Amino acid sequence: MRFSVLILGLLPLLAFAADDGDGKAPSKPDTLPAIQPPFDFNGIIEKGLMDNLHPTPSHIKYLTGNKMPTDCMAHAKEKNHGPDEFEVFEVYYEDCHVPWVMCRLKDTHVNATTMADTFGRMPLGMREFVKHVILFKPKDLPGAAAWDAGDVIAISEDSFRLYVLAHEMSHSIDAHIEVPGVTPSGKGGLSSSKRWAEQYALDNATVSDYARTLWAENLAETGIIALYNIVVPNGVANLQHNSPRQVFHQYATYTTYYRDIITPGKNQTCKQRVPDSKMVYWPDIASDGVPTETRTKKVGITLMEPGAFDENVTFVQPPAR
Ligand SMILES: [Zn+2]
Repeated sequence: MRFSVLILGLLPLLAFAADDGDGKAPSKPDTLPAIQPPFDFNGIIEKGLMDNLHPTPSHIKYLTGNKMPTDCMAHAKEKNHGPDEFEVFEVYYEDCHVPWVMCRLKDTHVNATTMADTFGRMPLGMREFVKHVILFKPKDLPGAAAWDAGDVIAISEDSFRLYVLAHEMSHSIDAHIEVPGVTPSGKGGLSSSKRWAEQYALDNATVSDYARTLWAENLAETGIIALYNIVVPNGVANLQHNSPRQVFHQYATYTTYYRDIITPGKNQTCKQRVPDSKMVYWPDIASDGVPTETRTKKVGITLMEPGAFDENVTFVQPPAR
């Protein structure tokens, strides 16, 4: 048995070493098996997050008169939904002077208050990298629990959970946050860095099956465990049944570089909110029937550059486990 453990530990190192000539990591993080037994994301992990991440006081302002963010309209059109099927609202949290505009299909079972409450439990540092949250029915996101495309989270009503948000927000953090000496200057991309692959290679498992599919997914899945470890008393020690030591270098590396972002704190205020997408009228007339011009929602804080992955990657997570 000891021999097989050694082999498991060596394989990724060898694979990485073989690729090292051109400085690139293996194309996929599939040289390690998924942790066994699997982490209980829907059970102990979600409960730990819910018990220890507290809602941020907020109030909701419903938008009327056909106003909707461009990104909501684009997702809705793509899924053959009309404007009347959506409820659009701004959520003002006490820790940020800029509201988040959210869109939900009216016939979903998660209401606006729950959306605001759940999203507001996430650390502000993570929320800042989200433009909009759009709630859909499961059929609108076939084969996925949620997407993060260009800092917009589209999520199924059946997957509206903190750990899914942690996964999707991790994609945006990965896309935006420069890690000096690790990612290109002024850009994100920790998940595709040599450093990440080196740390991965020191472990014996990934945090889930899905974490084996792409390097970006490996980091996003790891973000769930890193967040759990930061906010839940005793952290991963609560998960001894799963032998979290097997994934130590992955969650420790995530935590090393993103600790400030994923750590909730008192008296925080937003300082690097990604700007909303432009507000539009859909259909393109105001409620008084007069054609209108679109307006841009002003964000009075530092404007973020597009993330490293904004242009060409849509991240998909499988249905909730
Ligand atoms: Zn993902």
